[in-house]
Amino acid sequence: MTKTWSWRQLQAADAQSIWHPYASATRAPEVYPVASAAGVRLTLADGRELIDGMASWWCAIHGYNHPVLNRAVQQQLEAMSHVMFGGLTHAPAVKLARILTDITPASLDRVFFSDSGSVAVEVALKMAIQYWYSVGQPRKQKLIALRNGYHGDTFGAMSLCDPDTGMHHLFGDVLPRHFFAPAPDVPFGERCDERSLSAMEELLAAHHQDLAAVIVEPVVQGAGGMRFYSPDYLVQLRALCDAFDVLLIFDEIATGFGRTGKLFALEHAGVDPDILCVGKALTGGYMTLAATLCNRRISQGISEGEAGAFMHGPTFMANPLACATAIASIELLLSQPWQRCVQRIGEGLERGLAPARELPGVADVRTLGAIGVIELKQPVDMQQVQPMFVERGVWVRPFGKLVYCMPPFITNDQDLAALTGAMVETVAAVE
Ligand SMILES: *Cc1c(COP(=O)(O)O)cnc(C)c1O
Repeated sequence: MTKTWSWRQLQAADAQSIWHPYASATRAPEVYPVASAAGVRLTLADGRELIDGMASWWCAIHGYNHPVLNRAVQQQLEAMSHVMFGGLTHAPAVKLARILTDITPASLDRVFFSDSGSVAVEVALKMAIQYWYSVGQPRKQKLIALRNGYHGDTFGAMSLCDPDTGMHHLFGDVLPRHFFAPAPDVPFGERCDERSLSAMEELLAAHHQDLAAVIVEPVVQGAGGMRFYSPDYLVQLRALCDAFDVLLIFDEIATGFGRTGKLFALEHAGVDPDILCVGKALTGGYMTLAATLCNRRISQGISEGEAGAFMHGPTFMANPLACATAIASIELLLSQPWQRCVQRIGEGLERGLAPARELPGVADVRTLGAIGVIELKQPVDMQQVQPMFVERGVWVRPFGKLVYCMPPFITNDQDLAALTGAMVETVAAVE
């Protein structure tokens, strides 16, 4: 395939044979061919440039085509792109595991690599369930998850997503059934009172003998509603899990690596989970890689149990190209005053999105770290809205009632103002 395809040819061939995420195959919405990306700009195949407000779904924290990350990929490529991880190891995996255990809570001292966020959640689930089996409590197989949560699209992960927005009814009895607690409703910065976790406590009290773990996205519920909640909720939740002898899993796949203003959102609360999932921004958006970390209780319990081993092992586990890029991305992040970048972006989002508060169709405007959300009263019509963003020179991809952005950390003030301006204008225009 040496010939260059035109914009129309790409779109037509795409519509014929590709299925896009959460999309119809027969009434496929328009997709925009991208030719290249650099810094915070996507260059479309027709030469138009868009300021990226999505960081490719939370991932591209350093922007695109970054020389440091490019070099890391190239150097690793010349050594080896991949080897199996059964019985073999390599420096990129060992160094990355060391970095991850250094920058997360000290109690998390073991790393299991996988190839995507959903799989990291599956691994967390299997760890929790296999742990209880190994220590002689095989009944403990259920989880509590939160309403409005999102943990991925594979069966195990999907079973923990909000049952309504996750469309659990489509999959009938194949989908495992877990328990759901109400979404935390105490705002970020406020303290919980005795009622804030009462439904969670009731579930734990009623079912703890069957419960392996509680899983939550700490502080920010991402794809399930872009909601921010009180870190104090996590402090109380940790205490409840301890009281009822239930494990606690944090899914930081969206929040990890600085997005909320802390390196990990759990730092807002100072709470250690038993199991932690990371992904998305782990490689700075270059490659697919995820990791599940756990504490010694879990790794020891499983390893000294009946199976004597943790029963999971993806083919592309700890892919060296991805690990080398992740090391470069984390070192790049930590070598800069990244907290100040995130804070500056947060202030720019707050300033830029504030005018939307005055618009009649807007229910709420909220920002946290480098995340900005305009929540509308009605769902947006994507067919109408998507071209409006492109015409205004930005890439913003709303879902449902949410027009939101989480731009790369390198976004300058001018681009940020253009991004937020386009969001406010577009929201005003569709009312
Ligand atoms: C995106 C996401 C996942 C799933 O990750 P994939 O890489 O898309 O499989 C899981 N949990 C959270 C919180 C996410 O944001």
